[in-house]
Amino acid sequence: MADIKTSEERSKNMSKIKGRNTRIEMIVRKRLFSMGFRYRINVSSLPGKPDIVLKKYMGAVFVNGCFWHGHDCKDGHLPKSNIEFWESKIKKNIERDKLNYALLEELGWNVITVWECELKDLDGTIDRVISRLVTGCSTRVAR
Ligand SMILES: [Zn+2]
Repeated sequence: MADIKTSEERSKNMSKIKGRNTRIEMIVRKRLFSMGFRYRINVSSLPGKPDIVLKKYMGAVFVNGCFWHGHDCKDGHLPKSNIEFWESKIKKNIERDKLNYALLEELGWNVITVWECELKDLDGTIDRVISRLVTGCSTRVAR
């Protein structure tokens, strides 16, 4: 019986976290758009369904929630309850992320990860994304 309640709480927590992830994606998208970048979103034909795809730069951007994707920062720390559940869940997410990034790179994509906690310095983060896009593009041989 205790389990039922726990799983209800879990899914509640999960939907909250997912919602936040969409919001942080929007922040990055809006900023890039206002700077003249054009992109496609949630491209399901690519490994890992990148959040923002800038084909012109062969850029695949992932905006990752720190908790959900297991970032090594204070926001990425596991909750105090259900540690084993979260640990295996998040470990799987990390492994899946790594695999998808590797697959994308093999296909010639420039994978750029933006972490939720980095949005505290939005200007700096966007600068980093753009410089990654631009250098990724100029160092790539025409294909
Ligand atoms: Zn973080």
